[in-house]
Amino acid sequence: MDQKLKGQIAIVTGASSGIGAGVSNSLAAAGATVVVNHPVAATKDAAEAVLTEIKNAGGAGITYQCDVSKEDEVQKMFADVVAQFGTVDILVNNAGLQDDSPFQEMTLQKWNHVIGINLTGQFLCAREAIREFLRRGPAPERSRATGKIICMSSVHEEIPWAGHVNYATSKGGIMMMMKSIAQEFAPMKIRVNSIGPGAIKTPINHSAWATPAAEKTLLELIPYNRVGVVEDIGAAAVWLASDDSDYVTGITLFVDGGMTLYPGFSTNG
Ligand code: NAD
Repeated sequence: MDQKLKGQIAIVTGASSGIGAGVSNSLAAAGATVVVNHPVAATKDAAEAVLTEIKNAGGAGITYQCDVSKEDEVQKMFADVVAQFGTVDILVNNAGLQDDSPFQEMTLQKWNHVIGINLTGQFLCAREAIREFLRRGPAPERSRATGKIICMSSVHEEIPWAGHVNYATSKGGIMMMMKSIAQEFAPMKIRVNSIGPGAIKTPINHSAWATPAAEKTLLELIPYNRVGVVEDIGAAAVWLASDDSDYVTGITLFVDGGMTLYPGFSTNG
């Protein structure tokens, strides 16, 4: 693959599985040194397996344990990465989860759990990345932009989702956070964008595609008629991180096979 990210340092949060693992592989194949973040001791082996995959393909990186919802851990991760590699060029704010419940039964604990990781976690990591980009300043030998942040949002920043109010709210919040940071730091040549995945085959939505019957139902929501794979998101992340998208900031790039096209209206309207 073209080494469009050669010499750049990328932190990918929640990278021991699913989309984060796929994005890590894609960024590494494009030449970035990847920090494969994972949250707890129990996810270390999975993160190491992702790193092994990266190295076997000729790439470079490290694993790093940090819970993105904890301010002190996030600050330590950025400080350690800067101490080891000199700086950070790319942040992929990917860590996220669901903790679903009918709204009338949703506990404050479930609400805070999802908002704390999906939204506050992205805030904490984005803030540290911005601080580092400002400290370091331009590095034109590596990229036209002083820094790049990619937030993993969802089609649910746009499509309401009954039974998942905490999750959909976190993604709606990410959209406005992303755009506001992009507006604030465009003059400093820092680009901030989101990817809005549709249905991608990962552990988070396993039950939605695990059986042929489930997958058939899911495909009714996807005009392009296939469920996405992590490589679809990896390719979008490489583009948003590279100078190929140098004039792009403040957008959500939906990678969803047309899920946001309201396919229910294709035969009824
Ligand atoms: P996943 O469950 O495989 O990945 C989520 C990752 O986040 C896991 O590796 C988990 O360990 C990590 N994580 C959880 N809490 C963390 C914390 N506090 N600190 C650091 N890491 C933490 O699922 P996925 O589908 O790969 O999800 C990745 C992102 O993509 C999420 O933000 C999710 O909302 C988003 N997304 C996924 C889909 C999809 O169809 N799979 C669609 C839209 C958006």
